Amino acid sequence: MRLTQLWSPTLKESPKEAEVISHQLLLRAGYIRKLAAGIYTFLPLGWRVVRKVEDVIREEMDRAGAQEIRLPTVQPAELWEESGRWEKYGPELMRLKDRKGGNFCLGPTHEEVITDLVRGELRSYRQLPLNLYQFQTKFRDELRPRAGLMRGREFIMKDAYSFDLDEEAARESYERMRSAYDAIFTRLGLAFRPVEADSGNIGGSLSHEYQVLAETGEDAIVSCPDCGYTANVEKAELGFDAGSVEEPTPLGRVDTPGARTIDEVSAMLGVTADRLLKTLVYDADGSPVVFVVPGGRDLNEVKAERLCSAESFAPAGAAMVEAVTGAAVGFAGPVGLDGVRVVVDRTLEGAADRVCGANETDVHLTGVMVRRDVEGAEFADLLEAGDGDRCGRCGGRFAAFRGIEVGHVFHLGTRYSEALGARVLDEEGTEVTLSMGCYGIGVTRILAAAVEQHHDGDGIRWPMVIAPYQVLVVPLQLRDERVVATAESIYERLGACGVEVLIDDRDLRPGNKFKDADLLGIPLRVTVGSRGVEKGQVELKARDSDDVHDVAIEEVVDRVASLVRGGLSGTGR
Ligand code: ATP
Ligand code: MG
Repeated sequence: MRLTQLWSPTLKESPKEAEVISHQLLLRAGYIRKLAAGIYTFLPLGWRVVRKVEDVIREEMDRAGAQEIRLPTVQPAELWEESGRWEKYGPELMRLKDRKGGNFCLGPTHEEVITDLVRGELRSYRQLPLNLYQFQTKFRDELRPRAGLMRGREFIMKDAYSFDLDEEAARESYERMRSAYDAIFTRLGLAFRPVEADSGNIGGSLSHEYQVLAETGEDAIVSCPDCGYTANVEKAELGFDAGSVEEPTPLGRVDTPGARTIDEVSAMLGVTADRLLKTLVYDADGSPVVFVVPGGRDLNEVKAERLCSAESFAPAGAAMVEAVTGAAVGFAGPVGLDGVRVVVDRTLEGAADRVCGANETDVHLTGVMVRRDVEGAEFADLLEAGDGDRCGRCGGRFAAFRGIEVGHVFHLGTRYSEALGARVLDEEGTEVTLSMGCYGIGVTRILAAAVEQHHDGDGIRWPMVIAPYQVLVVPLQLRDERVVATAESIYERLGACGVEVLIDDRDLRPGNKFKDADLLGIPLRVTVGSRGVEKGQVELKARDSDDVHDVAIEEVVDRVASLVRGGLSGTGR
């Protein structure tokens, strides 16, 4: 392709709304354009990258035994009512009506549709295992679309669904997908970690997120350098010193007029925040549950909610807090709360000399010993993991980092097959509900993640596998016939060996050509100039290296072709 013909409108300045580097560069280099918040057009170069990402995913999914299909985008409400998600999915679901008033949605995910498909077709265990996947445009009316392709309202996902006879076989399918995902993200040239995750509202007990490491990532993750345990901060199991008991202290009362917050109380009493017991009342299906965590920490609502297994779970309103504590909001404490479930973070089990609300307005208790004073307390892990916290697996110290979730594998079990009645007959002729898994990859989010990891101050540095073109040939002096003839011949010959090649045949100054070359991020550049041609040479440079190599004109095509085949973006370093 010739740059005089390629439509890739570049921008000199980065658009104001683009905060993260991948968004800026994809706009500036002419890969994408915005239509509306979270809704983007892919221009020719951007679309080529999307297709390359899809090709890698398709190859590995096929290799793992999955079969590609294509499900509809528009989905009838009835199916979502059957699974119970028409209500539950909330405002993220883009709903629409047809002319007859029938309710539909634009698919944010396809569990319902795929389960409906197989329940009508699968009859026998002999038809299992089955794994079906598709590339689909998904619609989610995200509250905060952000960072360009990172969190869109319309985006492309690869989603796969596995069907097995029982839990054990389903776990094998799950493991096969995990291996396929390892292969996919490795081939895509991304530094990533599979992370044990909380499976959120989709249900299921086993789940891994594939996180690409990046400062701009939305997800907070901790990893233990000693044992390798890596998990989402909400899920990570924290270690604690079981059995360590602090010196006993006498229980006391102190007036704390108007001091309600952790900061106010610690200032008034001259104690550090970690000496306080932070007491939080939650409303779980209409009943109060009291949670207690160390003063300086936040309650991990994911862990707390899981303990309650409630349909609805939220911080209690003032009326419930006052009814539970008999005091104004701000003076709650876990001591003397009869008939209320109290769950205390387990790091506090042996704690003494703590301060908490007295369940009496303007009064706090001091010298509190959790074991002695909080009757009937349950102990559980209630914290979100952070940098320096103890690892729950080996006792090492967690290191925190941020990630971009590019893929997610879930073991679903029978959540959807049960609701929709997807069953087969087993070997004995007994009806069995199918065991399912679902496996997503954010295809368009991968473009953003790849650029976050592969760029420098001048532009993108695509990994070879997903680069829109592999080589850019740059003739420097268009008025020198030998330069033009040499460049054209290299361009033709590279194309003939199957290399995806661009030629910058625009009549521009070399400086401008190089600027654009760096911005576009093509992995290899062959520069053809008068002086080099005189000596029978051209220059070969990799986008991700500063080294420039003089290569004999007759050798350059072979050299480039072998670098492309090797998937290398370097010049053989
Ligand atoms: P997130 O926590 O980022 O909202 P999710 O848990 O909602 O993700 P899944 O339903 O598991 O995501 O979707 C599978 C994959 O689709 C995700 O791993 C992610 O890569 C991608 N994805 C999800 N939401 C978006 C979005 N709004 N824009 C782009 N990609 C997305
Ligand atoms: Mg989401």
